[in-house]
Amino acid sequence: MLKIQRRILKEFENADNLGLSLNLLVKRIREAIETQACTLYLKNNDHSAFFLVATDGLTIPANETVSIEYGKGLVGLVATRGEPLNIDNAQTHPDFLLVEKVNEADYCAYLAAPITHNGEVIGVLAVQQAEERQYDQSEEAFLVTLAAQLAEPISRINTQDALTAFVDDRTEQQLQQKRDKPFKGTTRIAGVAIGTGVLVYPPAELNAVPDNFITPAEINLEIDLFNQALLQTKEAINDLKERLRTNIADEELAIFDVYIGILDSHSFADAIIQEIHQGQWAQGALRNIVKQHLKRFDAMEDDYLRERATDIHDLGQRLLAQLQKQQKTKIHYPLDTILVSESITPAALAEVPEGFLKGMISVKGSENAHVAILARAMGVPTIMGISNINVAQLDTQCIIVDGYHGRAYVAPSEALLHQYQTLLKEEQELYADLETLRDLPAETPDGHCVALCVNIGIAADAGLSLTVGAEGVGLYRSEVPFLVRENFPTEEEQRAIYRQILAAFAPRPVIMRTLDVGGDKTLPYFPIKEENPSLGWRGIRVTLDHPEIFRTQLRAMLKASESLNNLRIMFPMVTAIRELDEALRLLRQVHQEITEEGMIVNMPLVGAMIEVPAAVYQARLIARRVDFLSVGSNDLTQYLLAVDRNNSRVARLYDSFHPAVLAALVKIVEDAHSEGKQASICGEIAGDPAAAIILLGMGYDAFSMNSTSLLRIRWVIRNIPLRQAREHLREVIGMEDPLLIRRFLEQQLESAGLGGLVRAGK
Ligand code: PEP
Ligand code: MG
Repeated sequence: MLKIQRRILKEFENADNLGLSLNLLVKRIREAIETQACTLYLKNNDHSAFFLVATDGLTIPANETVSIEYGKGLVGLVATRGEPLNIDNAQTHPDFLLVEKVNEADYCAYLAAPITHNGEVIGVLAVQQAEERQYDQSEEAFLVTLAAQLAEPISRINTQDALTAFVDDRTEQQLQQKRDKPFKGTTRIAGVAIGTGVLVYPPAELNAVPDNFITPAEINLEIDLFNQALLQTKEAINDLKERLRTNIADEELAIFDVYIGILDSHSFADAIIQEIHQGQWAQGALRNIVKQHLKRFDAMEDDYLRERATDIHDLGQRLLAQLQKQQKTKIHYPLDTILVSESITPAALAEVPEGFLKGMISVKGSENAHVAILARAMGVPTIMGISNINVAQLDTQCIIVDGYHGRAYVAPSEALLHQYQTLLKEEQELYADLETLRDLPAETPDGHCVALCVNIGIAADAGLSLTVGAEGVGLYRSEVPFLVRENFPTEEEQRAIYRQILAAFAPRPVIMRTLDVGGDKTLPYFPIKEENPSLGWRGIRVTLDHPEIFRTQLRAMLKASESLNNLRIMFPMVTAIRELDEALRLLRQVHQEITEEGMIVNMPLVGAMIEVPAAVYQARLIARRVDFLSVGSNDLTQYLLAVDRNNSRVARLYDSFHPAVLAALVKIVEDAHSEGKQASICGEIAGDPAAAIILLGMGYDAFSMNSTSLLRIRWVIRNIPLRQAREHLREVIGMEDPLLIRRFLEQQLESAGLGGLVRAGK
């Protein structure tokens, strides 16, 4: 609370103008007490009345002022007595005075404190709430203390000036409220960013083409572009047909005539030109007409005709690719780039020059999609899953991304911008403070130590990981180098990559996960097409079906560890004991072969990932067979809650604070320990400061996370005694609602002075 008071005072004194400072004051007090209204009254110059000069929660008609005669009403009572008043129902109090035009009848609970300067009451600070309740002792103490601290700066304010600012401000505020209405997203990556919108969209992806409305002067140019694209597409199809003529029968070549027929048909091209005439750019017009055609074909009974929908879609993509070739302008990335897109891809993210990317906004996408994991790893505040937004309009606009609350503000007012600039500055100060923790152990104040490790995917991640003082690698996603290639890397190529990582971290341990493809991670040269990929062929299921791939990878890992001996291996997506036994058998076999070849490498410690409910229930059996368990909470949450981690429509249901997930986490660590094995956690939850409290309480031995989260978690561990973490865990285990659990834990961080980790500011 002390820290919050300091923040409120600092913000009050530093605001640019009087109106803003008073408004921020009441807003922040209301937020800190988590109540519904906070109002400040100041005594006028001739001491005859108190004037309402700021409120957050009461509604007052425009151009009206509210004054309460000296000695009247509850404000008068507080002022004449010079004491706080804390009552559960203001309206039944004999001194209650209903001020017409103000919605005070909406509130029952009432707490007010006098602001006293040099023995004289100069103002009254009041908070209100709809339900009947007595504010508790800590809330009363908070308001009284703050009123005392405010006395000095408020004594310097002239009430008339405050009143004028209040009236002016409300008119301005109404305008601003319209401007400062945020767009909300379902997925958020913590942090605040202020910058300039840069619109990107995946190439040749019709569904990702944004609307872009053109001026009448641009219509002819867009039509020309479309006609050229049409011509070039026809030429390209004819060329293709000619090239294939020697290998393909004439009946099959006829498909190309169908394509040309569609392109030549007036109903297709004319409809697109018509759309352009109505003000849509060529790419948007193409998208609309292709969609219309697809709908029509999809509804057809005849299988053959329904299949034509695929042709239309394919043609649409080809035309779009041609249009984009012509319309491709080099994207200019300003220093404060906020990437904006229907759907941000890892490639779009990678194209931004290093150091320029400040934030991201994506209509589609969810918490644990790999692009979100990447953004989190890079510490880029992001909001995804935003509906009702036209991304094209965000290009070149000033944008605020508030990743703590999942809100984006476009073209914000001066006041809002100023507010966020202050928060951003405080956040930067906070991280500068965190740097000092780099070399300190992750040890609780009562002497319990945990290991803080990093999740990495490429060798380049090693640098940052070591600068934040990681104790090792808790998860090396070995599929990453496979994803960026055109074919499977050879044993020697893999050995060289793994060696680089093992050497960078030695003597610290590196846990390498064997290839985890499938689901949303498919290799371009090894496509897996399935109806339901998350429940399909992924992780260890793929590698056990392809022992040649698996064995090559295991050989490369073991060889890479020669003379370093810091390698640990773990298997993803283990669902059956049989899978684990088979994987262990192959590993031992490969180790023996290598030894027989004359290379001396230690058999590494081996772990299994617990990512599916079946493994939770068999955790003890699994633990008996391996050296450690590591929880993949991203997938575990997905499978326990039956919520696709990549689907933005159900992203609101994906929550690792769900009591069922927490119960599973408790069971896993208990089972591992009862078998005398270590338990670590490497899903995104391990880097969440609120979760760190309960994971500590549960007894996890190691936390593995993105390097950008590591210092924050170290700060949490160093400030929360294990005893207290266990108490908090006990309370949380009795709760039913994931949101309440999160809120409860965030409050604990706030009380421990660590609130800056879960909200903007220090
Ligand atoms: C997990 O599932 O929690 C995990 C760490 O693996 P990935 O996110 O790579 O699936
Ligand atoms: Mg996983």
